[in-house]
Amino acid sequence: MFDLIIRNANLPDGREGFDIGIAGGKIAAIEKSIAATAGETVDATGRLVSPPFCDPHFHMDATLSLGMPRMNVSGTLLEGIALWGELRPLLTKEALIERALRYCDLAVTQGLLYIRSHVDTSDPQLVTAEALLEVKEKVAPYIELQLVAFPQDGYYRAPDGVASLERALDMGVGIVGGIPHFERTMEDGARSVEALCRIAADRGLPVDMHCDETDDPMSRHIETLAAQTVRFGLKGRVAGSHLTSMHSMDNYYVSKLIPLMAEAEINVIPNPLINIMLQGRHDTYPKRRGMTRVRELMAAGLNVSFGHDCVMDPWYSMGSGDMLEVAHMAIHVAQMAGIEDKRKIFDAITVNSAKTMGLEGYGLGIGCKADLVVLQAADVTEALRLKPNRLFVIKAGKVIARTAPRVGELFLAGRPASVEMARDYVPRCSSADRNRSR
Ligand SMILES: [Zn+2]
Repeated sequence: MFDLIIRNANLPDGREGFDIGIAGGKIAAIEKSIAATAGETVDATGRLVSPPFCDPHFHMDATLSLGMPRMNVSGTLLEGIALWGELRPLLTKEALIERALRYCDLAVTQGLLYIRSHVDTSDPQLVTAEALLEVKEKVAPYIELQLVAFPQDGYYRAPDGVASLERALDMGVGIVGGIPHFERTMEDGARSVEALCRIAADRGLPVDMHCDETDDPMSRHIETLAAQTVRFGLKGRVAGSHLTSMHSMDNYYVSKLIPLMAEAEINVIPNPLINIMLQGRHDTYPKRRGMTRVRELMAAGLNVSFGHDCVMDPWYSMGSGDMLEVAHMAIHVAQMAGIEDKRKIFDAITVNSAKTMGLEGYGLGIGCKADLVVLQAADVTEALRLKPNRLFVIKAGKVIARTAPRVGELFLAGRPASVEMARDYVPRCSSADRNRSR
């Protein structure tokens, strides 16, 4: 009756010891002790089973290019931009495809099966768009890849910015990007937001802009983006990525801005790893954190999802394709360590990201796509703490990746022979207690 049954799974909502029956690539049953047999069985052994991770903000044309043509010696944003400028003319379609496919391999082993990537459209050759459109097709059986036309050097500021972006959309890149804070003037930035929202409305496409990625409290393009979203009837289809200037804004102004964003149903995409690394660089001490106001935006009902942004590229030499690493940083930077906080942070790399990306059939419910990850952790809070191994990654009811549990062997007289952090070092209270919010 079932193609696959996952036995003894803990679910992200806290329910424990459930079986998940899968048929025809969809979730067909979630019950205690399913009596039927199946073609294949996965024993989750009381571990967390989650829908896959979704990364709503990434740069797949730059990923894994670290060291090409040289390292970012200072580790700064400015040297990163200079490096990308050196690398871009050397890019070939074949090399772009090879790097992107290798990143997707890594992503699958991390249980990351949905990715939205920006594609730099500054170079009118558009070799980046050509390559990533091909990658999108190639990985479609295991990763849903969305592409954003991103005018990295400025929509108006780059010589061919306007025409190149339109051409990328004509080629099939499906989301309109932007970078208003990087245009020559505030006015040009505001004009670019209007022009790009108009294009999205005319073509029936979503919008996802790098917006206000700066420490300048007067960088207020998110206000314009929210207003144009309402004006062009794009509510719910627009994402504001980064929004780091909100960290530094005047509090009174923010009290007006957040309701405006809520009215426009803006999807908010902070990138915690990159924001904490790159923002506040002109500060001495105290240094600003530079991540947008996650707690306040969530409290106002906005959909907040976290992006990885970069992995081993000119801007960021670190990263591992692990959305739990992103969430782990978010907990620290946003200071969201409460029980309910952590649940919201986990949502931000799963269900909220799926909403930002407009995914259909995503989730852990009957009739949802059977895309699932079995983690070496008992529950959501333990997954966030441990960034554990992904024991099984399942796509459409088929196991597409497997990683052995992480267990350390010990050779100490009178001490245990092995240590498994996920089993032996859990909090000393019942799982119900550790996940119960007041
Ligand atoms: Zn970005």
